[in-house]
Amino acid sequence: MEKKITVIKGDGIGPEIVNEALKVLDAVAKKYNHTFTYTDILMGGASIDVHGVPLTDEAIEVAKASDAVLLGSIGGDTTTSPWYQLEPSLRPEAGLLKMRKELGLFANLRPAYLYNELKEACPLKEEIIQDGFDMMIMRELTGGLYFGERKTQEIDGQMVAHDNLVYSEKEIRRIAKRGFDIAMKRRQKVTSVDKANVLDSSRLWRKVVNEVARDYPEVELEHMLVDNCAMQLVRNPRQFDVILTENMFGDILSDEASMVTGSIGMLSSASLRDDCFGMYEPSHGSAPDIAGKNIANPIATILSAAMMLRYSFDMDEEADAIENAIKKILKDGYRTIDIMSKGHKEVSCSKMGDLIVENL
Ligand code: NAD
Repeated sequence: MEKKITVIKGDGIGPEIVNEALKVLDAVAKKYNHTFTYTDILMGGASIDVHGVPLTDEAIEVAKASDAVLLGSIGGDTTTSPWYQLEPSLRPEAGLLKMRKELGLFANLRPAYLYNELKEACPLKEEIIQDGFDMMIMRELTGGLYFGERKTQEIDGQMVAHDNLVYSEKEIRRIAKRGFDIAMKRRQKVTSVDKANVLDSSRLWRKVVNEVARDYPEVELEHMLVDNCAMQLVRNPRQFDVILTENMFGDILSDEASMVTGSIGMLSSASLRDDCFGMYEPSHGSAPDIAGKNIANPIATILSAAMMLRYSFDMDEEADAIENAIKKILKDGYRTIDIMSKGHKEVSCSKMGDLIVENL
């Protein structure tokens, strides 16, 4: 198969971790007789430095013309980097929001999976972890509070800020369908998370999710309030299969879910639309504190590349091969610094990439 991949290395550790993912993709292409062609574009701080804006229209066109996008991470140190002296619409993350919107990527998938070999990194008690957990957070990505109208104005001598939370039935229905589709391929349970006791947008969310559920009689549906869900994630994460939720709740809950796996450097993510196109990136940020040291964990990015093979290119066998190679390396005791513990072998970012290639 021939596939065109847009590559955004980004800022901080982005270039280091993406290079390792490309190494792995090249090895997959060789082993399974595929041709992957890569086109680099700039986004975030790297684009600001060259073009003065975090994403150009030309870069968007390149992404649109490809089969999938692989992204490292964007952004710098938010207190010291000059990028954060710019007005909000010119800062690095504005590039990412614009890219998601332009590509119509409305569904964000974030697996939170506890590897047996990394159980000691999980901050939860043994009796809660038991034989591990495996959940998928499905977050709506292009609506809600982050995209509603906002303004700050002076009223009666004091500043007042407004952020609007807006959802249409159509937006809720398409993400709910995606959530149920994913659940059908997993353990067939959806937990829809909202704040229906307070918010109108949540009441509409709940109504539409119930309607969509009628088309998926095999899937068990439960509704959970977001505050309860935040608690349940640390009390009993094993109860969850697919967590389906709106943009801001998903932003917060997916970080919490990744934290209970104990290692942000291991967690991949995908942003999808209705067809098979998607953008794939690690769940973590650009880690400016360790950039350029060749110590970052590239596994989240490599697993994101595996998700790209699975969800955009329908290459399940190839994706399985990458995931199995990673499990094998963890079993053999290799660790990057973020997941290092006593009795294991510490390796660099590039060495971890090499080991995964060797084990494919
Ligand atoms: P971060 O995820 O970059 O880092 C948090 C901590 O985790 C740091 O100590 C870092 O060293 C460590 N870490 C993260 N990824 C790692 C890896 N692969 N290997 C080893 N250690 C790793 O979060 P932050 O510090 O809050 O944000 C830094 C920058 O990243 C900010 O500019 C932020 O806006 C941006 N960011 C970008 C994205 C994205 O591109 N999608 C997502 C989140 C944050």
